[in-house]
Amino acid sequence: MTAVAKVVVDVPTMQTDRPFDYAIPATLEGAIQPGMRVWVGFGRGQRQVAGMVVGVESTSAFAGDLKPILAVLDYAPVLSQAGLALSKWLADTTFAFWITCIQTMLPTMLKVDTVKTVTLGTHPTQEAQALLAGASSVPVADLPEAAVARLVQQNALSLRYEAKDRAKVKTADYVVPADLDFAAEAAKLRANAAKQRELLTLLAHWRENGEEPAVASIQAVTRPQLVAAAKRGWLTLEAREVYRAPYELLDHQAHTKPLALTPEQAQVTSTITAAVTAQQASTFLLEGVTGSGKTEVYLQVMAAALAAGRTAMMLVPEIALTPQMVRRVKGRFGAAVAVMHSGLSDGEKFDEWRRIQRGEAQVVVGARSAAFAPLQNIGVFIIDEEHESSYKQDDAPRYHARDVILHRAAEAHAPVVLGSATPSLESRARAAKNVYQRLVLPHRINQHPLPPVHIVDMRQAYQQGGQGDFSKPLLDALQLRLERHEQSVLMLNRRGYSSFVMCRECGFVVQCPNCDISLTLHMDSHSLRCHYCGHEEPIPTRCPSCGSKKIRYYGTGTQKVEQALHELLPTARVLRMDVDTTRRKGGHERILNAFGAGQADILLGTQMIAKGLDFPNVTLVGVINADNGLSMPDFRAAERTFQLLTQVAGRAGRANKAGEVVIQTFNPDHYAIQFAQNHDYEGFFAQEMAIRHRGDYPPYYYTIKLTVSHPDESQAAKAIYSMSRELTAALSPAAIVLGPSPSAIARLKNRYFYQLVVKYKREPKLDETLTRLLDETQKSTRDGFFVAIDREPQSFL
Ligand code: ADP
Ligand code: ZN
Ligand code: ZN
Repeated sequence: MTAVAKVVVDVPTMQTDRPFDYAIPATLEGAIQPGMRVWVGFGRGQRQVAGMVVGVESTSAFAGDLKPILAVLDYAPVLSQAGLALSKWLADTTFAFWITCIQTMLPTMLKVDTVKTVTLGTHPTQEAQALLAGASSVPVADLPEAAVARLVQQNALSLRYEAKDRAKVKTADYVVPADLDFAAEAAKLRANAAKQRELLTLLAHWRENGEEPAVASIQAVTRPQLVAAAKRGWLTLEAREVYRAPYELLDHQAHTKPLALTPEQAQVTSTITAAVTAQQASTFLLEGVTGSGKTEVYLQVMAAALAAGRTAMMLVPEIALTPQMVRRVKGRFGAAVAVMHSGLSDGEKFDEWRRIQRGEAQVVVGARSAAFAPLQNIGVFIIDEEHESSYKQDDAPRYHARDVILHRAAEAHAPVVLGSATPSLESRARAAKNVYQRLVLPHRINQHPLPPVHIVDMRQAYQQGGQGDFSKPLLDALQLRLERHEQSVLMLNRRGYSSFVMCRECGFVVQCPNCDISLTLHMDSHSLRCHYCGHEEPIPTRCPSCGSKKIRYYGTGTQKVEQALHELLPTARVLRMDVDTTRRKGGHERILNAFGAGQADILLGTQMIAKGLDFPNVTLVGVINADNGLSMPDFRAAERTFQLLTQVAGRAGRANKAGEVVIQTFNPDHYAIQFAQNHDYEGFFAQEMAIRHRGDYPPYYYTIKLTVSHPDESQAAKAIYSMSRELTAALSPAAIVLGPSPSAIARLKNRYFYQLVVKYKREPKLDETLTRLLDETQKSTRDGFFVAIDREPQSFL
């Protein structure tokens, strides 16, 4: 009896979003396990597609003849049983296709590409033969496309889709000395063959010591000389698998010792450690002011998990603050640490992933997608800065890393630590209901005070001697730091805001031709770009609308502020950290290292400098414009602003020197700014909860956003209204539906977007109804519909 494999195919549509049965051919009997990728024929024409085996059974309920599995891509599962179960759970909770979830969990290197190739067709011509130049098949990408299209139409060439596995193991060449009498070989050489003599001496030495050195590590002879020696039979060159080590330099760093904990830290640590030891899946909300030593708590809790023979997983919000955090974790756990984040190359990610999968790493540190790392036997999960919105993915699958971690922790019987100085309202509210256990670190290490915060009212800044974007108090404070040889951090809040180009004569703003949004100015490339569709055009010198030359740049960019700083404080050394200066790999790290080494007086940046930085010589934090985000029509605007200001203020005065914070704002009386001034998270929480309660917002309600788009506006509108009617019929009267309405950006990439938001407390039929609606509209994808369902969206915009 042949066995049957259940395969989820790489065809992401609603109709194909389930396992299909395939026969396991006799040649592959026993070789196929769940979690392996295979090639199968699919659909009409049996197109070759990749798929994931999600189960192996002895019989099939399918009536017809089963098609066979064509080949295996993996010789060992790339997803464990637990990983497969997690992918299914992810698909169910985020309304995403199962195959999309599977791909999200695997490194990019394991994704399968299709490569278009051409072979000789049924009516070959000379031209076609010339293009192939003797090869049996050639990738279309290597050929002139127009000619290929023409020849394919004439059947002179035939087009093929070849799927290509992207997984590439990196290898390096090693020297294996041959079993020879090297002295005798040397005697045969001519007198002037000094290099060869030297190599023979080395080979004799290596063989004696059992050494097989990497070619790259050999300095005395060159690679061509080694290749020549291999031809003579003196040695063999062997390609061996190596890992690309993203943080190689750090591996050689001295190990740090655990610090003696303060009594507050010790109490918190022992509470969490007890749960680690008892294998309890409790969730702790660690609410610790900035500089209270949360990181040391994380490190010691992770150490406790390792000591108990288990592993530890730690999530950090984004690449910008990983260098310092990675250094601290690597400094403590050395080579046991695997790092996963978007700043690594695909190859590096793949290597780290394999180290984790093989059980060679006991600690994983990474950003959002590291929540899926194939770490096993996890003893504790940590989410640093748990309030950060980057933990939520915007695209399908629209998951929140916190939910993934809580799910895994329950399965693993391991505690979760959610750490923040400014917890999300959701998490803090859960702690209030004892769903999470709240732990508090109310003081900074060594009783360092939290820095005093001065609010500067920018409405009066000019009269009081300010210059441009700088008020007098901020300039004075910066000047004082220069005199004292202390450092400053300056933040330009760019949330909900970008620089654009406007005509002073007619008010024309340059817009994207494909989207209802103004183009963003990029000074580095001297162009205007659309952040949504990628459209790019040169900066106009004349207004495209009225022809006037009075076209100007608006908005305070970091470059403009940097320029102003050079004029106002000519002696100050300024480092700028923004998307433009950090685009290159390792950019963040380079800038932060330079700042840490005292090579600059001022670190100027966007909100990417607000979090995680721990520099003892920073005694001043300045915020140039606190209120950009406040004016956004977003129910989380106040929360985001409060979090940002509190976090950035926390960069000042972390060591023995007292710190100070200057916040410039046009809204000095806004409660988010007032509570941030007093470092009063609990006060902010109470007031914001009252506001959310009045407005029926989260965390009092769950929310779900449904978006429909179509190239034809009336089609999109019709679809959302019909969905709204069906949804309303299925919901209880307690649910609130906002909309339907056009989305905040009503047109993107020439598609029209309509949306609705459901606010609800308990709606047993909601998920089922949404799945049905998705199903129905998917049938009409051919008509150009696109539907997205976002559970707990970051904003309603
Ligand atoms: P948080 O993450 O809460 O903002 P950190 O973990 O960065 O705070 O700690 C702030 C500073 O205090 C760091 O420089 C850290 O090395 C130091 N620190 C933490 N715990 C201790 C301790 N127990 N003894 C001495 N220094 C400590
Ligand atoms: Zn666009
Ligand atoms: Zn104009």
